[in-house]
Amino acid sequence: MRYNCPEGMARAGPTVRYARHAVFAVCEVWIFMNRFIYLDNAATVPVSAGARLAIEHALEEFGNPSSPHTAGSGARALLENAREQVAALARCAKDEIYFTASGTEANNIALFALAAKGRGKKIISTESEHPSVYNPLSELEKRGYRAVRISCPGGAFDYDAFARELDDDTALVSVMQASNETGAVYDIKKIRAVMTARRSRAFLHTDAVQSFGKLPPDKAADAVRYADTASFSAHKIGGIKGTGALYVRKGLSLSPLMFGGGQERALRPGTENLPGAAAFGAACGEIALPESRETLKRLYAHLTDRLGPIAVLHVPAEHVDSILLISLPGYRSETVVNWLSEHGICVSASSACSSKQKKNRALADFGLSGADADGALRIGLSRFNTESETDALAEAIETMKTEVRVHG
Ligand code: PLP
Repeated sequence: MRYNCPEGMARAGPTVRYARHAVFAVCEVWIFMNRFIYLDNAATVPVSAGARLAIEHALEEFGNPSSPHTAGSGARALLENAREQVAALARCAKDEIYFTASGTEANNIALFALAAKGRGKKIISTESEHPSVYNPLSELEKRGYRAVRISCPGGAFDYDAFARELDDDTALVSVMQASNETGAVYDIKKIRAVMTARRSRAFLHTDAVQSFGKLPPDKAADAVRYADTASFSAHKIGGIKGTGALYVRKGLSLSPLMFGGGQERALRPGTENLPGAAAFGAACGEIALPESRETLKRLYAHLTDRLGPIAVLHVPAEHVDSILLISLPGYRSETVVNWLSEHGICVSASSACSSKQKKNRALADFGLSGADADGALRIGLSRFNTESETDALAEAIETMKTEVRVHG
């Protein structure tokens, strides 16, 4: 007997079942979006309708992708289809994509493997990296490597300082493509050009978690064109949490961090998270549509227009349209975040991953003054937001200023 989905649904034909799921998926996203105004999309993005549908489908294809029988081959086909969708958005070959359990895991696999493979003991990175890069490099320092972290005031990468640091002892360079705190974009093509000019044999890794699907496709593709490895995360584009991917340039073989079965060509063993991968693939297909980026661009322009007169905007020269860092000097970030939350609007005081740390390393490196850093808010946009939501944020900030006392 072929296993299928619950009784009533199983009796319906596949087209009817799919149509029902599609209607439910769209309704679920709509209901979610109307619970509150969600403007913290750099922390995570709502699960898209396409991703929800893909999960339903993957739950029906319940086989183990490594099993040779019919159930296994159905699951394998779904997994490989998802890999193709991720590769299409990244603009690389399908077999250059390895599924991982998160963007964090993808960064860790790449950094430890490339440091070990490199010819020296020096690693060059930036002060503003996400903790999933910053902390592995601190661990590598304990293991005998030397990490040099270049400062990026205003979100600008210092190519001269980089060229000076790049020497024969440099095993690895790791620079994020877009900052999760400020939205600043780092030019991976130019970084590779400096490495080529200096005849560097170091490997280049980029954390592309916040740029994947957010930058214009040709610019985003610098990650796979010029870096040796690049990391991506599903939940930043409408997939589910706990799914990531690592791009590894063809011909480059990396040692795994974990050992087990041969899944993901033994670089990331463990039975694959099929619903997660399928949702990731579907979200890649959706975010690739030009409307998705056009929506973001329009929302970002509208948001900066609305907030410009009432807040200090920190807009890097090159930025993604999904992250806007602002300051409300005189107000504490936490107070504002809580006030807005009580009034139905979610924004962030700083990235969710570093919110427990006292001082925000990335904001300090960006060059924010004490008052600007104390009152910093990160607004994260996604293609699911609307202009009226950004209007509501601006109005709420104005009201907040009349109700909350400036701290002394
Ligand atoms: N890198 C950046 C720039 C991020 O913003 C994040 C998540 O916030 C990660 C890596 C980690 O991704 P994940 O949450 O999938 O572990």
